[in-house]
Amino acid sequence: MARIVPKPTSKFLKVKCKDCGYEQAVYGKANKKITCLGCGTLLTTPTGGKAIIHGEIIGVFDND
Ligand SMILES: [Zn+2]
Repeated sequence: MARIVPKPTSKFLKVKCKDCGYEQAVYGKANKKITCLGCGTLLTTPTGGKAIIHGEIIGVFDND
């Protein structure tokens, strides 16, 4: 049975902070918490794999 497996997010994502609008790049598999450089709001929570992104993802840096 074929299943569609989501591609792992191993790229850098451009994330916009919900609180202050600051935009910064975060690694999609960040293994530590990343906070907004503008206001200190938590932007990512590590899960051991794909990080949970709390801000708005507005772009992906494609390094391929
Ligand atoms: Zn912020």
